[in-house]
Amino acid sequence: MAGPRKPGSNFLFVPWPTNVHDRILRAMHVPMEDHRSSIFPELTKPLYEELKKLFKSKDGQAFIFPSSGTGAWEASITSTRSPGDKVIAPRFGQFSHLWAELCTRHGLDVIVQDEDWGTGANPERIGEALAADKTHKIKGVLVVHNETATGVTSDIAAVRRAIDAANHPALLYVDGVSSIGSIDFRMDEWGVDLAITGSQKGLMLPAGLGIACVSQKALAAMEGAKCRKCYFDFADHIKANASGYFPYTPALPLLYGLREALAILDEEGLDNVFARHQRLAEGTRRAVDAWGLKLCAKEPKWYSNTVSAILVPQGYNGGDVIDVAFRRYNLALGAGLSQVAGKLFRIGHLGDLNELMLLGAIAGAEMSMRDVGIMVEPGSGVAAAQEYFRGAQPKETRVAAE
Ligand code: PLP
Repeated sequence: MAGPRKPGSNFLFVPWPTNVHDRILRAMHVPMEDHRSSIFPELTKPLYEELKKLFKSKDGQAFIFPSSGTGAWEASITSTRSPGDKVIAPRFGQFSHLWAELCTRHGLDVIVQDEDWGTGANPERIGEALAADKTHKIKGVLVVHNETATGVTSDIAAVRRAIDAANHPALLYVDGVSSIGSIDFRMDEWGVDLAITGSQKGLMLPAGLGIACVSQKALAAMEGAKCRKCYFDFADHIKANASGYFPYTPALPLLYGLREALAILDEEGLDNVFARHQRLAEGTRRAVDAWGLKLCAKEPKWYSNTVSAILVPQGYNGGDVIDVAFRRYNLALGAGLSQVAGKLFRIGHLGDLNELMLLGAIAGAEMSMRDVGIMVEPGSGVAAAQEYFRGAQPKETRVAAE
C-alpha cells in the first residue's frame, strides 16, 4: 500500500518520469473526441513537423506510438531489420543492455561491445569492427546517447565519424530517451539515421508516447525488413499519418500535452533549455564533489547533463539512502540498476526543473545520507550548488549589484 499522500510536494528526481509541467497538465485535461473527424489532422499534422525540429531533422519522418520508449525501440528495429541481421551494440548500462536484448529477442545477431559501466560508446572500437567487415554484413550501430542508469553521455558525432571513416553503410540508430529535449541532439548534422525518445523525460509529459524520427535512408531499409511486426509497423503509420490520422486509437490527451510541451520548449528556446540542463547538472556535480563522493561516470567527458549517478562509499547501500529519502522526506531518488544495484543513487535533473527545486533534492539527499550513516558535512552540497548557481546565471538575469 502506498499510504496517505504526504503534505507538500513530492520531490520527483528518479530520473523518470519527470515532473509534468503545469501547462501540460492543463492541456491534457480534454474531453475525448472523434479521432477520425475532419478537424483532427489540425492537431496531429503540426506535431510531426514540430517533432522534427526537436530532433533537428529536416528530411526525416516523425512517428508517434502509444507506448513507452521501449515501444519506439521495438518499432525501429522491427520496421527496418530482419532476423539474422548483424548490429553492433555498445553496452555500458542497463538501458544499452535492454536494447541489445530486445534485438536478440527479435532474432538479430547482436555484436555486443561491452564497455565499463561509467564510460560510453567507443567510436574507435566501433570503427575497427566496421572496417573489418569488408562484405558489409553489419547493418546497424545502436548507441544509447545518454545512459540513464549510469549518468553517461556518449559522443554521437564521433560515432558517425567512425562509421564514415570505415566507409561503411551501417545505419546509426540512437536512443535519445533521456537526452532529446534536454541535451543537445542534432540528427541531421550528426548523420543519425534513426532516433527515438519517450514522452516522460525532457518532454515533461507522462509516459505513454514512444517517438521516433527516421531518416530517408532508414525508411528505405523498411523494404525487405522481415522482423515480425504488426502494432509497431512504421508502414501502417506512414499510410495513416499522411492524412493526419493514426492506424488505431491515439492517446488523445497525450497528443494535446505533446503540443503544449513542444510549445513550451520552443518558447524557452532549445539552446536555453540545454544551457539550463548544463547548469543544473554542474550544480549537482559541485554538490557531489563537496560531499567528497564520486560519480559513476568515470571522466568529465562522460558526464550527463540530465542525470547524476552518485556512488555511495563502500559498506553502504544506495538503496537505503533512497528508502529513507522517500519515507522521511518525500523525495524520490533513482536506484542503481543491475550491475550497480546498491552501489549508487541517482538524481535526475531534467525536464520542468529549476535551481531551487534541485536544491531541495540535494538537501534531501544530504539529510538521507547522514540518516543512514554516510556522514557528509551538513549543508556542504547545498552550499556548493548554491554558490555555483549564483555565479552561473544567464546574462539577462544579472542584477545591478553584480
Ligand atoms: N532508453 C533509456 C535511455 C531509458 O532511460 C529508458 C527508460 O528509462 C528506456 C530506454 C526505456 O523507456 P521506457 O521505460 O519508457 O520503455
